[in-house]
Amino acid sequence: ERLMDEHEHNDDIQNELSLRPDTLSQYIGQHNIKSNLDIFIKAAKLREEPLDHCLLYGPPGLGKTTLAHIISNEMDVNLRTASGPSIERPGDLAAILSALQPGDVLFIDEIHRLSRVVEEVLYPAMEDFFLDIVVGKGEEARSIRIDLPPFTLVGATTRVGSLSAPLRDRFGVHLRLEYYDDKSLEEIIKRTAEVFNVEIDDKSTNELSKRSRGTPRIANRLLRRVRDFAQVKGNQSISIDITKHALDLLQVDKEGLDHIDYKIMQCILNNYKGGPVGLDAIAATIGEERITLEDVYEPYLIQKGFIERTPRGRRATAISYDHFEYKKH
Ligand code: ADP
Repeated sequence: ERLMDEHEHNDDIQNELSLRPDTLSQYIGQHNIKSNLDIFIKAAKLREEPLDHCLLYGPPGLGKTTLAHIISNEMDVNLRTASGPSIERPGDLAAILSALQPGDVLFIDEIHRLSRVVEEVLYPAMEDFFLDIVVGKGEEARSIRIDLPPFTLVGATTRVGSLSAPLRDRFGVHLRLEYYDDKSLEEIIKRTAEVFNVEIDDKSTNELSKRSRGTPRIANRLLRRVRDFAQVKGNQSISIDITKHALDLLQVDKEGLDHIDYKIMQCILNNYKGGPVGLDAIAATIGEERITLEDVYEPYLIQKGFIERTPRGRRATAISYDHFEYKKH
């Protein structure tokens, strides 16, 4: 099983909804973001204005969508959601924007995937709350201006570098999500276990937190799978033996690395003698999408100190030789 699948089972998606914390205080970890948002939200409410546009960025599964829900909830407004690729033409965006109520939060996931023409409709909407759209064709064409209610755009992206500078600059608040530490993940796992109504001991919670690569979505997913093992074995609660057994079968190692991480590292270490090697070459060799490697796998491998980026490509570090049991030649 792959840990990073974008599409989850239906029951997993159902669970995802009930797992989402509703308020900032229930949101675990990310202290910096929480304390900043808390102040910005309070100030906006005092001024009776919508919150400034917020850009959330960081690897998948760290809680960007959850934060958008929380922002709308804390601001007491509706949340509308869309994603970059689903807004194909300027008219799609115009329809979404003109349906907003005053103060609403519009969440656009994968905002780096908006096309340039759609982006251009977004600029005046973000800055001055109006739409400038062209209707009709040829000689009949004219541009009309539609006023919009004030709203908050919350944009999420895994790759802030792919965002055009003019779009990036129109966000007043930039929030970068970090990988979670073990303690925060333990809290998240305990909370999820309560929602699932399953007992889990501290050792298992700790083990799961270490193997979740700093990511709440993965922690929750591993917990579901471990719960499956416990149930099938007829155990009411999750013990450390079951946890370790399940995680080994799921091919998640002690650092939370899965078989794709291993393929990447073995490619760099074996095929390219430790690098440097370009990401495209790695992607082609192991048969994965470059984007997946760049957004999902590489950031964690870099954070763990297994890979370093150099101007000529990715290189394996000394500790990766130890972890992946290779001798340096
Ligand atoms: P993203 O939008 O960044 O891909 P999500 O917001 O969808 O991530 O979060 C993935 C899962 O992790 C959700 O089920 C969510 O409930 C859980 N989660 C994320 N961040 C937190 C957090 N800080 N506290 C508790 N649960 C969290």
